[in-house]
Amino acid sequence: MNTFHLSGYPRVGAKRELKFAVEAFWKGSKSEAELRQTAADIRQKNWATQIAAGADLLPVGDFSYYDHVLDTLCALGAIPARFGFDAATLTLSQYFELARGNATQVAMEMTKWFDTNYHYIVPEWHQDTSFKANAANLIAQIEEAKATGHDIKPTLVGPLTLLWLGKEKDAGHNRLELLPRLLPEYQKLLRELANAGVDWIQIDEPILAVDIAREWLDAFAPTYQELAITGTRIIIGTYFGSVAEHLNLLKNLPVNGVHIDCVRAPEQLAEFANVWPENKVLSVGLIDGRNVWRANLREVIDLLAPVATQLGNNLWIAPSCSLLHSPQDLNVEEKLNPEIKNWLAFAAQKLQELGIIKQALAHGKDTVQEALAASDAAAAGRKTSKLIHNDQVAARVANLRAHADQRHSPFAERIEKQQAWMKLPLLPTTTIGSFPQTQEIRQARAAFKKGELSAADYEAAMKKDIAYCVEQQEKLDIDVLVHGEAERNDMVEYFGEQLDGYCFTQYGWVQSYGSRCVKPPIIFGDVARPKAMTVAWSAYAQSLTKRPMKGMLTGPVTMMKWSFVRNDVPLSLVCKQIALALNDEVLDLEKAGIRVIQIDEPAIREALPLKRAQWDEYLDWACESFRLTSTDADDSTQIHTHMCYSEFNDILPAIASMDADVITIETSRSDMELLDAFVKFSYPNDIGPGVYDIHSPRVPTEAEVEHLLRKALKVIDQRRLWVNPDCGLKTRGWPETTAALEVMVKVTKKLRAEL
Ligand code: GLN
Ligand code: ZN
Repeated sequence: MNTFHLSGYPRVGAKRELKFAVEAFWKGSKSEAELRQTAADIRQKNWATQIAAGADLLPVGDFSYYDHVLDTLCALGAIPARFGFDAATLTLSQYFELARGNATQVAMEMTKWFDTNYHYIVPEWHQDTSFKANAANLIAQIEEAKATGHDIKPTLVGPLTLLWLGKEKDAGHNRLELLPRLLPEYQKLLRELANAGVDWIQIDEPILAVDIAREWLDAFAPTYQELAITGTRIIIGTYFGSVAEHLNLLKNLPVNGVHIDCVRAPEQLAEFANVWPENKVLSVGLIDGRNVWRANLREVIDLLAPVATQLGNNLWIAPSCSLLHSPQDLNVEEKLNPEIKNWLAFAAQKLQELGIIKQALAHGKDTVQEALAASDAAAAGRKTSKLIHNDQVAARVANLRAHADQRHSPFAERIEKQQAWMKLPLLPTTTIGSFPQTQEIRQARAAFKKGELSAADYEAAMKKDIAYCVEQQEKLDIDVLVHGEAERNDMVEYFGEQLDGYCFTQYGWVQSYGSRCVKPPIIFGDVARPKAMTVAWSAYAQSLTKRPMKGMLTGPVTMMKWSFVRNDVPLSLVCKQIALALNDEVLDLEKAGIRVIQIDEPAIREALPLKRAQWDEYLDWACESFRLTSTDADDSTQIHTHMCYSEFNDILPAIASMDADVITIETSRSDMELLDAFVKFSYPNDIGPGVYDIHSPRVPTEAEVEHLLRKALKVIDQRRLWVNPDCGLKTRGWPETTAALEVMVKVTKKLRAEL
């Protein structure tokens, strides 16, 4: 029999029970015992689902109250000394303080887990970081899991990935130097697990799928030499990309198996299978742990069957990666179009698929005929469904005229035509789009959604807020105004709800960080815009002022990156379709007299492929898509874009190729250092580096803003420079917002007078 296993399962609960319990515990309305009970219930339910689906090895250690990387740090005693906690006796409250900060210590940093939207806690490495194994927490969960009577397999973040993912806090220190200190404790941890009866353990080393330096690769063999002698059998987990370039290394490591992701990198199945030693497990992930689509079971089984013949029981089957990244259970969805629902599989359904694959490999396809027929029907239906395929959209993409992605004239000519009507002063001021989402706005939206507020009353409430926003900006004497985005719940959802090809779930939550979950929309089909999405709001806002009003759209890459995307066509095609739908909106805004339009692309950097070798190809279509949003826009229409905090050094030429007339970026927290790249590559168009941080309610001082603005003026041509905050203001309150913008405008006027 081929072992069916998995490295992790969603842990927030089908209806986010853990989130609510954790938040109640933080507020003091739930006791620690109650929280622990909720957690234990979730684990039990998860294991029961896995057992029912036929899993052979239940995952342990995938559950976490906050983050599994933090848990691994705790199990190794590697928590930052600055908190003054004793790792051996760490309480649950202290654990949360590490993640969230306390009165004296800021929280440990977090950042995105590879190219997912899951955020892990970033290990803090110091020259003198020490380690001390503490398996108690894991062993308690192991005992719980064993009580089900089933075999188990704990998952841990591997020692090299753990070190690599962390940040060096001391200058001149190389975190790899901590390895000799970490390894003995890692060994001790494994020995304790072995003593607790653990046979198999999965050690995840996903860094093998990204570009890592030679010295890190060289550390693998000696590291696993040490871990191999601890009495457990080790399977190394890789995912999110191909590790075929390390095939020799992996084949020869003294471990008992390796897991590979054959959804992200299907080609590696043959490469591995051809040379895989018979005495080692090869675990193949052909069920997508990162996306929501039902598998084509017949195809998967046909791919696996020859490998099963060759490797026998040493072929294992699994999801491509931890199911942490998929929504939990499709069955609880009540409102999805049944046709679309039939194409989907969330975590629970993915387990069932694996159960069927296992059965087919063991006893032949005949024994799973019914399931195969259902899978075939779903695949065939999806291929031809009218819901997905829109001939007009296909024709439009196929027949794009040459240079459709180019503005009529180069920037130098456009900007003159824009300045001719805009008549802006030097250092024009603007904001990034959203203004405070007040309690009233949110209540109105909730009431409208529940049907308690009529459409007319909802519209009136939003208009009232827009009018207030415009009035405030005029009072502040800001040059280019925005309407404030009151009508938007979320910058992707707002547009997705109005576009063909998108659908939404009720419970498709995925953990983002700690107790926070996101519910990404699903792009299931060709994207088109049936009717204008923002024009009425923007036109209303423009009617209230003589100053230029900026229309506000979310760019194609961001619309895609923050959604589950269809897997039946290339990403580049999906992106272009969204771009063309947005182009319709741009042209309608223009017609309605909105002649400044901002197209936000905060996700353009985070959507970069994990391997550098694939960057150019991605940037080509991503930037082309962005440009396509402005096809046929008049030269005098000023296109803005906005990007949040990210490194630009390595992709600046691509960003320049987007050819937005104005780009606003988050720079204040880096003391304008991010501008260096723009200067180094002589970025040609207008640029608005953020002059204050919007992430805290703190109002910047005039001196701070002046310091940043002078710094920017030193390196950017004064005719190209805009003044704006770092990002949107929707998470702020009004008092601090007006106070901060007052400072911004005052300092701008002072410096303008010197020019
Ligand atoms: N226009 C959006 C806003 O102001 C931009 C948000 C973002 O960059 N993440 O909220
Ligand atoms: Zn932003």
